Amino acid sequence: MIVRKSKSEIEKMRLAGQVVADVHKMLQDLVRPGVTTRELDRRAEERIRKAGATPTFKGYQVGREVFPASLCVSINQEIVHGIPGDRVLEEGDVLSVDCGATLDGYVGDSAVTLPVGKVAPEVALLIERTRESLYRAIAVSMPGNRVGDVGHAVQSYIDSFGYGIVQDFCGHGVGRRLHEEPQIPNYGFPGTGRRLKAGWCIAIEPMVNLGTHETRTLADGWTVETADGSISAHFEHSVAITDDGPVVLTSRGDDPPGPWIPGTSAVA
Ligand code: MG
Ligand code: MG
Repeated sequence: MIVRKSKSEIEKMRLAGQVVADVHKMLQDLVRPGVTTRELDRRAEERIRKAGATPTFKGYQVGREVFPASLCVSINQEIVHGIPGDRVLEEGDVLSVDCGATLDGYVGDSAVTLPVGKVAPEVALLIERTRESLYRAIAVSMPGNRVGDVGHAVQSYIDSFGYGIVQDFCGHGVGRRLHEEPQIPNYGFPGTGRRLKAGWCIAIEPMVNLGTHETRTLADGWTVETADGSISAHFEHSVAITDDGPVVLTSRGDDPPGPWIPGTSAVA
């Protein structure tokens, strides 16, 4: 069942999303060579709790595995769901950070990929194009369009560069729970799938590899990496579908110009 949110629920979603946006803005300044991912996680949790929210990922359970941290940190060939720890970031690394916060019963979910210092030119391009693919998907997230249109917006752009689009994981509905229906794949055919309706809130999250689309999960039960060891990038926003257009609930105020309703970056 797909839960449609009322206007007041969407406003609560936006407030939760702004807690996540605030964490990402803080991390942009903290991510540099020499910092450990555990330190980033500690700072993120502190920020989330200070805002009166709780870290959605901490204690999140899939089967028998319980996620132990507030952030997912995925470095270089890691795609998603990496666990913070003692690893020290080095110049030239690529860090994907995913953050979730629950405020007043509603969840915000957003990810960015950040270069650590200076990265290789082909990696900088991968990051920029993955971010662009997210906004192309958000741009078609309007009532009347279909789930296949959203995936196609990512795929038609990313395929033109010969990158691998991850298929084993995808975007999702978001609301009172982190993962709700429907699934939002990062590939698809135009005009296919469920019709988007006003009140849907979805997390759109393209994961794009320099090499093939194939993945494998490490023995820790969480970390997903590229099967061929190639670098990967991941961008995600939580978005509300409204009759006035898409609302980027987790906006950091740095969205490019587009048909979305500018989110406020103000955090209470
Ligand atoms: Mg996420
Ligand atoms: Mg997500």
